Amino acid sequence: MFMGLSQSLLKYPPPGMHFSYKYKMIYSYSRINTFKNCPFQFKLRYIDKEKPLWEHTAESILGNIVHEVLEKMYYDFKHGKINSLKETLQYFEKIWKKCWSENNIKIIKNYSRAEYKRLAERHLINYIQKFSPLSLSEEEKKRLKILDVEKKVSIALNGFNMIGFIDRLDYENGLYIINDYKTSMTLPSEDDMKKDWQLALYSIAIKKKFSTDKIKLRWYYINFDKVFELKPDFSHAEKMAIEGIQAIEKAEEFEPKPSALCDWCAYQHLCPLRKHLFMPEKKEEVEGEKLVEEYANLKIKEKKIKVMIDEMKEKIINYAEENDLGSVYGKNYIANVKIKEDIEFPSKSSEERTDLIRLLKKMGKWDNVEDLDVYALKSIILNKKWTDNEIERLDKFIKEKKIGCISLRKRENK
Ligand code: SF4
Repeated sequence: MFMGLSQSLLKYPPPGMHFSYKYKMIYSYSRINTFKNCPFQFKLRYIDKEKPLWEHTAESILGNIVHEVLEKMYYDFKHGKINSLKETLQYFEKIWKKCWSENNIKIIKNYSRAEYKRLAERHLINYIQKFSPLSLSEEEKKRLKILDVEKKVSIALNGFNMIGFIDRLDYENGLYIINDYKTSMTLPSEDDMKKDWQLALYSIAIKKKFSTDKIKLRWYYINFDKVFELKPDFSHAEKMAIEGIQAIEKAEEFEPKPSALCDWCAYQHLCPLRKHLFMPEKKEEVEGEKLVEEYANLKIKEKKIKVMIDEMKEKIINYAEENDLGSVYGKNYIANVKIKEDIEFPSKSSEERTDLIRLLKKMGKWDNVEDLDVYALKSIILNKKWTDNEIERLDKFIKEKKIGCISLRKRENK
């Protein structure tokens, strides 16, 4: 354990950064990524250390098992033993049974356990046939040196310490190769790979340990038989890691950030955006469900009625115009119709709007039309973009109020 982490952070703050180091945690790529994807999930998991609904999803355990089988395969190769396909699949069988019996695993997609197993087996057979020591020529086997598997690395960046694990570290033709196995079902583009800074971050540790920058990053997308290779961009990885830590250390609010990843989140039962789905069916919950349904139905009716009202309005205006009338009489109501000329200007964020402002300024007329932009002012105050002193001077003009806001969307899965 890195007992000295907070000490070293305090001792060597990076220039221009003033962190409080309030969370005193060891950072990693995945922690920074969790924060980026959803600050609230990050807080529940790493700060509050809440109990998750499940330890693994079927996808994550599948990835772990494939990694473990490949780890053994290369560990044995490093020690002079090349495992046959049969031996590897037997080991896979053993690990599969152990993992599924010992872990609390959540199946989210509509696949059975047997289908996940077939998928994992397919991953492994693909890999073994295409990339494993079994697929190499005698010459290639001699050339390949496995330096380590599941290698833990520590990275010191301007006084910060991070940790990570390299799936496999090879040495071949004068190059250190950081290998990563991917079992995901989507294939990234070359551009996505260039933005990925995880392996580049680990390469900083390898660069330091072996005093070399002759390093290559290699990703195996096993399900697609695809290999990506890139040179590490050390400075990009360093920048991303420091910015990530800085964002976490500076965070005051940890807002939920809903996305497609929510279905995989093991903290949904604690998240205000999802926990209603996990509450026991007490009378109040059924009531809540009924209220939302009724509200949604009324909103749908409101939309339809609004269209009908607009059409009716247009008909009355046309009728009044055609007959030169100021009032149109119904049986019980009178519609007073006023038709006046109006004008419209380009919308706020449009280019034409900028041109219009430029022109008004050029004409020396800007002062006549300039208005207070209350939305901009509100954003400045709520986001504390001015000093406390400046904001305090506006206090007497600010009325605090509570606004409830509802937005409806269709529920995809019940
Ligand atoms: S359910 Fe979604 S928004 Fe809520 S904590 Fe999880 S990831 Fe974040």
